[in-house]
This record gives sequence, C-alpha cells and structure tokens, in this order.
Amino acid sequence: MSAPTSSYRGRIAPTPTGYLHMGHGRTFHLAAQRAEDAGGELLLRIEDIDEARCKAEYTESVLKDLTWMGITFDREPVYQSQRRETYLSAWTQLKDAGRIYPCVRSRKDVAAATRAPHLEDETAEPIFPVEWRPSRDAADEYEAPGCVNWRFRVPDGERVMFEDGRLGECGYTAGKEFGDFLVWRRDDVPAYELAVVVDDAEQAVSEVVRGEDLLLSTARQLLLYRALDLDPPAFYHCALVCDSEGKRLAKRHAALSMKERREGGQSFADALAELMTRYTLS
Ligand code: GLU
Repeated sequence: MSAPTSSYRGRIAPTPTGYLHMGHGRTFHLAAQRAEDAGGELLLRIEDIDEARCKAEYTESVLKDLTWMGITFDREPVYQSQRRETYLSAWTQLKDAGRIYPCVRSRKDVAAATRAPHLEDETAEPIFPVEWRPSRDAADEYEAPGCVNWRFRVPDGERVMFEDGRLGECGYTAGKEFGDFLVWRRDDVPAYELAVVVDDAEQAVSEVVRGEDLLLSTARQLLLYRALDLDPPAFYHCALVCDSEGKRLAKRHAALSMKERREGGQSFADALAELMTRYTLS
C-alpha cells in the first residue's frame, strides 16, 4: 500500500487452520480496498493462538495467497501465538474486576443442554444456561487460567447496539441471543473473543472488516471492550459467499481454495469474477 494519509487502520486476521477459500479472499479484498480508499494503513495478524490446530504450512499458504491477491502490509505481521502475556494480563484484569468466572461445563455440555436445532448458522454457539453460573467467589481460587473454562458474565437483557458500516444499526440482546461466552479455554488457550479485542485495541485498529458470520461476536466483543476500558473500533461486516444450497463457503469447498487457484495459474481478479458468477451473497 502507499504511505498512509489518514488515521484509518484496518487489519486482516486469518486463522491458519486450513487452506483459505475464495470467500476469505473476497473479505480480505474488501478490507484492503477500504483501507486503500480511506488512505489508511493495513495490518496483518495471524490468529494462530490455537497452536494444536494451526500449522506452519497453512500460515505459509496464507502469506502466498495475500501476495497473489496483490495485498501488501505496512508493518511486519503480528502472531497471536507470541502474545500470551498480553492476553494473560487482560484475563487478570477481568478476573480481578469480577467479570469472568471459572466454569467446569464443557462446550459439549452446553450444546447437549441447549440442543439448538433452530440455530441456522452451524458455527453459532449455543446459549450458556444461566442457571449454570457458579457463585462469584469461585474465581478467587485461581491464580492462573487453564484447567477450567473461563466465561464472561453477560449483562442479561441488555441490548448491545452498534452501527455497522454496511448493515447500519445492529443490536443483540445479552442472555437471549448470546450467553456467557468463553474468554479462556480449559486447555489453556485464550479464546478468540478475548485475543481479538486485546489485539485490535493494542494495534489501534480503527475499523474491523470481516464476515457477517461474526456479527454476534461483535456484540460479545463490545462487552469486553467496555469491561477492559478500551475504545472499540468501527465495524464493517461483509456479506458471505454461499453455494447453490445457500450454505456459506467453508474450508471443505476444496475447489475454491485460493491455493488451488493460484497454483493453477489463475489471477485473483479472474478467480473472484468467476466466484461471483457461480455463487451468491448472503
Ligand atoms: N481469525 C478470524 C477468522 O478467521 C477472524 C477474526 C476477525 O476478523 O475478527 O475467522
């Protein structure tokens, strides 16, 4: 990108747990475009916090995908796997403020208890049953995370509102559309919601551009910004690319992997144009 002429700062934050598909490519392209149009900066953050699921070969592939797309960055990439201490201090801050609690229930328990066939989005989290919240005192027994899950206690009934750059006003009710969510996992990995808030705030990202599958996460994250006394960025959620059955693209749509396209000698522009003729937007 050319030298920034404004205070806009965007970021691209891929998770290297597989080869990325053209749907990611479209979202990244829009993120780069918005930074460029604003005369701002664009950062790259590799969200490799879950070291058991992330692989170096996927990170390498992501970097090649971005080069193939013609996207360049203003700074060296940031790797979440190297930032544990920073997430740990956010965990301590939340714990000391009584905002999070240790929870012995697994994700499986929650899924079984709520059995949520109504959830259209296969990635949506079932809502944590409020009667499973333990007493506030339990947190004092722990000096470090790990061993148990840690959840953020949401303000039941509060409607978390935000202005989305594409969709306009959005709002989700805590305790109804989303429940107490993970901030630290019992396998001692910081949860996505915590890591992303800490990073976006520390990197002074002014606008987060990502897929609209993360709209509910934005509501959760806004609660974390508030609890950590951090300023939230603006948000712009992109439409998702869907196949003929209305299912959004996933890493399983192998033919649409960016790796395959670039290795096949296609240009990103051609691959994107082809995608838009064969697939629809959410
Ligand atoms: N790393 C996340 C993902 O690949 C995106 C996070 C974000 O943009 O906030 O789904």
